[in-house]
Amino acid sequence: MGFIATRCFAILPEICIEPIMGKEKRSMGKYFELLSEDIRFVEGLKACMNCGVCTAICPAAEFYCYDPRRIVDRVQTRDDAVIEELLKSETIWYCGQCMSCKPRCPRGNTPGAVIQALRTLSQRLGFFVHSEKGRQQIALKRVIGHNILETGYCIFPKTVNPDLHPEQGPVWRWIYEHDKEVFGRFTENYQKAGAGPVRKIAPDNVEEINRIFEVTGGKAFFETIEKYSDEAARQMGMDGAGDAYFNHVYAYNNGNHTLNDE
Ligand code: SF4
Ligand code: SF4
Repeated sequence: MGFIATRCFAILPEICIEPIMGKEKRSMGKYFELLSEDIRFVEGLKACMNCGVCTAICPAAEFYCYDPRRIVDRVQTRDDAVIEELLKSETIWYCGQCMSCKPRCPRGNTPGAVIQALRTLSQRLGFFVHSEKGRQQIALKRVIGHNILETGYCIFPKTVNPDLHPEQGPVWRWIYEHDKEVFGRFTENYQKAGAGPVRKIAPDNVEEINRIFEVTGGKAFFETIEKYSDEAARQMGMDGAGDAYFNHVYAYNNGNHTLNDE
């Protein structure tokens, strides 16, 4: 694993770091301070001794060019240039958030929680549009985010559009087109008022969810993702972050994310 991770690091130019020694002047601490406003970061990083246990247990490190030990190590430098590179990189989006690293760390750190804080800061500052996986945040916002605000669910059968999920195959398309018939066999109230799973959430409850997102800043956060995505789309020569941009970031793969892509 150590060999793989080291090799992986070597092929990731976007997160390669210049030696800190020898730099005349480094900007220090700005991003570390912003990260420290996030309770997930405060609780997720006490002091890393760089042992690599988190990387050894991490399932994402088995497949992606990803090494949680190196990420935590970079954050600990408090060096703005180093952390900004991380915030713009692909690597912070590879974590599967399984939290296997949490119980294994001998220092009580949670690299997965550090990643959460890095992702949020990357979104807040608009750095997420610098990476292919980061740009996909617009798809998550418009799919899962909109589902929550419009239906009260992150996801339910009718929101898994087969056009966006060809990996589901022709059987899913048939189920999608016959959802009432299929899911109606599991629950009496499929997308109807009443009790039970995948019932229709009452409009006043959906309204309450919207108000929660409003007052807690969730909607403003969504708008931030839209704003930076729109800017990125225009820089790519598109007419804003419309369907063309969405479909591009949703489907594009540069083929350089997994260890097998080397
Ligand atoms: S297991 Fe904990 S101490 Fe070891 S490298 Fe990972 S975060 Fe650092
Ligand atoms: S939470 Fe992320 S970093 Fe931790 S073990 Fe899971 S995939 Fe790896």
